[in-house]
Amino acid sequence: MTNCLFCQIANNDIPSIKVYEDDIVFAMMDIFPESKGHLLIIPKTHGENLFEVDDKALAHLIGVSKKIAKASKTALNADGIKIVQFNGKAAGQTVFHYHMHVVPAYEGVNFKRHAGQQADTEELQQLAEKIKSALN
Ligand code: ZN
Repeated sequence: MTNCLFCQIANNDIPSIKVYEDDIVFAMMDIFPESKGHLLIIPKTHGENLFEVDDKALAHLIGVSKKIAKASKTALNADGIKIVQFNGKAAGQTVFHYHMHVVPAYEGVNFKRHAGQQADTEELQQLAEKIKSALN
């Protein structure tokens, strides 16, 4: 879909801070993070949400989410990883292209509000580099 933000990001038409990419999925830092290292994983093929996403792409995405969650936990010394995914406006979905949130959790640190404050780009790039190194 040409007017979809995440389709444009997956096509590299709009810049993002990429963490991982293969033929099926794309992962990037969330610019409004709930915690240090919050990232998003999206299928490259458009599907509005869980009800419409392609099954094979979803299965692949889950596998990738495990690798990325492990890498984030190691790279950022997180104490846990929260995985969240919203389907429909009523559920809190704001971009209507399926996306999974991978949110590192740290003991004693509260999550920030979803889509609250925009993070510093340089800091996000550094976090992305750390996660990328742990993925290899
Ligand atoms: Zn899309």
